[in-house]
Amino acid sequence: MRPVAPVEPPDAAELASIRAVLAAVQPVADRTMAQFHALMFLRHPELRAVFPAAMDEQRQLLFRALQECVRHGDDPAALRAHLVPLGRRHHTYGALPGYYASAEECLVQALARYGGDAWDERAEAAWRRLLALVSRLLVEGLEETRATPAWWQAEVVGHRQAADDVAVLTLRPDQAYPYRAGQYAAVETPWWPRVWRPYSFGSAPRADGLLTLHVKAVPAGWVSNALVHRARPGDVLRLGPAEGGMTVNHSSGENLLCLGGGTGIGPIAALVEEVAAHGPGGRRVEVFYGARRAAGLYRLPELRELAVRHPWLTVRAVLSEGGGADGTPAGELPDVVARYAPWHGYAAYLSGPEAMVRAGAAALRRCGMPADAVRHDLAGD
Ligand SMILES: Cc1cc2nc3c(=O)[nH]c(=O)nc-3n(C[C@H](O)[C@H](O)[C@H](O)COP(=O)(O)OP(=O)(O)OC[C@H]3O[C@@H](n4cnc5c(N)ncnc54)[C@H](O)[C@@H]3O)c2cc1C
Repeated sequence: MRPVAPVEPPDAAELASIRAVLAAVQPVADRTMAQFHALMFLRHPELRAVFPAAMDEQRQLLFRALQECVRHGDDPAALRAHLVPLGRRHHTYGALPGYYASAEECLVQALARYGGDAWDERAEAAWRRLLALVSRLLVEGLEETRATPAWWQAEVVGHRQAADDVAVLTLRPDQAYPYRAGQYAAVETPWWPRVWRPYSFGSAPRADGLLTLHVKAVPAGWVSNALVHRARPGDVLRLGPAEGGMTVNHSSGENLLCLGGGTGIGPIAALVEEVAAHGPGGRRVEVFYGARRAAGLYRLPELRELAVRHPWLTVRAVLSEGGGADGTPAGELPDVVARYAPWHGYAAYLSGPEAMVRAGAAALRRCGMPADAVRHDLAGD
């Protein structure tokens, strides 16, 4: 790749005027983002086809992404950690490097229209600097994926109900699909074109190349309900490339503390399978598996069987709505895990509902676990 000149992040004064504009447009964020999309689609009509029919969610996502960029505007490392993976995802959505310069221009015009008194020459220069940096990092992510397919087609070859509103889907990708235990992929169903949602792989890579997803239908959720209640063998989904850094470093030998809530047990079980296949190398693996009620612990028999076979593995179930008759502890997963502290020498892997993951990460930090030993795939940390 040809070398590109670095873009300096905005300085403190520039960030102040960037923030003033963001505050001014916040009450009309939806209109501002709609203006941006309208300008983009005028310049690049072909782009409309890569967005979903309903654009309200896109406007919210875009404004939230802008807020994140401004929040980390003076921290290039944080911007990089946030934007390079997003640029990789843009490859799946059909973005081309040439779109980003247009996007900068259209965003400047939309902000100028709604930025009120906060918009002046200085603000414009500051925004242009920030957006140039943002584009640079997104394009970097996009370029990294050049050799990778933008998406795979995957046929549903198995679909079974595993618990209330939870389905396990077995998929056969149309070509070899590389991934590691603990990773996830953006998934699109035929019923909601161009609406992509991330789902984790529920097992480590298999010799037969099949993939599994464990999906819980959430109230009024578009994609999850389609996957749980509508998908059947023969249906074809699209999958983006594998993403996420919640993978095991087999050369580190660190012990693993794994928290899986609900379908979040999928990537945790995958990690356990990978350690079993690779060999534990002297490490211990402690799994805490949480659900509201016992019926939600649908992978417990399978995990307990693994624990019987592998002395390095301990599996504990936790129920938030009253403990089980068999002595399963009651409580929220993060609180129960904290009771077993200290966790020196462990790296933590957390997966499940966002509130559980954030509470779990905070509880482990309070137990003295260093930030880089607490791993999960939620944005914003
Ligand atoms: C890295 C990552 C991995 C993920 N892996 C999995 C996985 O393996 N299995 C899985 O089932 N999900 C997983 N998710 C969640 C998944 O991506 C979707 O967010 C979820 O399925 C809802 O999408 P939807 O289109 O059905 O709902 P949306 O249409 O996005 O939401 C519809 C409504 O439901 C609400 N809602 C959204 N999520 C929830 C929720 N969890 N509980 C209650 N209400 C909610 C929304 O606020 C909204 O009002 C993962 C998320 C991330 C970030």
